[in-house]
Amino acid sequence: MSDDLTRTTAAELASRIHTRDVSAVEVAQAHLDRIAAVDATTHAFLHVAGDAALASAALVDDALAAGTAPASPLAGVPLALKDVFTTSDMPTTAGSRILQGWRPPYDATVTSRLRAAGVTILGKTNMDEFAMGSSTEYSAYGVTRNPWDASRVPGGSGGGSAAALAAFEAPLAIGTDTGGSIRQPAAFTGTVGVKPTYGGVSRYGLIACASSLDQGGPCARTVLDAALLHEVIAGHDPLDSTSIDAPVPSVVAAARQGADGDLSGLRVGVVRELTGEGYQPGVQASFDAALRQLEKLGAEVVEVSCPHFEYGLAAYYLILPSEVSSNLARFDAMRYGLRVEDGASAEAVMAATREAGFGPEVKRRIILGTYALSSGYYDAYYGQAQKVRTLISRDFTAAFRQADVLVSPTTPTTAFPIGDKVDDPLAMYLNDLATIPTNLAGTAAMSVPSGLAATTDGPSLPVGLQIMAPALGEAVMYRVAAAYESTREALVAPEVSA
Ligand code: GLN
Repeated sequence: MSDDLTRTTAAELASRIHTRDVSAVEVAQAHLDRIAAVDATTHAFLHVAGDAALASAALVDDALAAGTAPASPLAGVPLALKDVFTTSDMPTTAGSRILQGWRPPYDATVTSRLRAAGVTILGKTNMDEFAMGSSTEYSAYGVTRNPWDASRVPGGSGGGSAAALAAFEAPLAIGTDTGGSIRQPAAFTGTVGVKPTYGGVSRYGLIACASSLDQGGPCARTVLDAALLHEVIAGHDPLDSTSIDAPVPSVVAAARQGADGDLSGLRVGVVRELTGEGYQPGVQASFDAALRQLEKLGAEVVEVSCPHFEYGLAAYYLILPSEVSSNLARFDAMRYGLRVEDGASAEAVMAATREAGFGPEVKRRIILGTYALSSGYYDAYYGQAQKVRTLISRDFTAAFRQADVLVSPTTPTTAFPIGDKVDDPLAMYLNDLATIPTNLAGTAAMSVPSGLAATTDGPSLPVGLQIMAPALGEAVMYRVAAAYESTREALVAPEVSA
């Protein structure tokens, strides 16, 4: 019974809970049991809030028993929350030692929307420190393991959320995507991950990495489940000055429409610069097969060129560290978390705390960013990078005149072994080649599973298809994703062994 519930989609769980075929408490308990059974292997969670989850589920059951309509289409469905959103009743660490033991005094808007929707928050998931990384190896609390192969990374920074989905510890999860941290882990774990249009989901209470790039979004095992979650968390928030004051795209309707499998009249653009050289052969083969599948569904596949995408990585790794160096100045040993009492002056305490509290990747980026912003270098680095950012946005605008959505492989390779790239920052950064342009432009993109690729050194592993859409073009993106998904068998990770 309990295994069945953990392998059920969020949409189906919701309908069974709302018709009182099963209780929200049973569903929550099944997932807590599953976490107890497998999380020692996956380490997807940093904090499990069992009692709070059961209490929240009981409230949903009580309301339904009293004849009240469900608070939302996802009332009673369990979810795993990336540990970068503040939660007033749970610790929030952002994967950093500097926030160890910190209990935020308030809920992020995403958190409060989930609560208001009656979603059962199971706990907080592991991530690279302050969302910098592509593997979760930069978490201060240990690596998350990929349910497909425990010797491999689940991607990052939101590897915990993606692994929780793939290992059936939760049917829904929340991630954040600054350069690919929702989409790359989705690709590595055979799950669905959506980076909404910048400003589509409130950043209030999301611990900042790079504010002009950060965006929260839904993660799930199916496109429809992601769409249901998208509509719960998206929408204008006066507490976030960059939040878009416009209606949320109707992504649930689009996902249902797409499931009919008819894409006739739609143009799908293949970004020439995001295929071919540098892509693992199995990844490229899976992508080519996806294109044939999209054609079979009636879409017209065209080639487009985005010539400035090749500078995206370089621009991102100047803009992101610059914003990081400024955003992370707030961790000064006075206001939050860790405080190392060392020396008499406030400066000495700050220096000792930041030295002990930040990991090597975070320090690297603070130093890079501080350098890029320093007088004399600002124009040459930060200023130039901002110009590239504009050129990338223009590439997108031109490409979206030729195609309704753009596609590429989400990542150049399948999941890599733990330890493979941790000491080689450039190799780690190259993971984000195909995902970064979307963040720089503020547009929308998602990753959907596109089958398995053979690897030379282990089992076959999931591959992701990236679908990119214009700003606020989520409806067409979900439609294409759902149509493509309808042609495929769901990817199911092998049983996690202890
Ligand atoms: N891997 C990218 C980085 O390290 C993306 C991070 C993210 O999206 N939060 O910056």
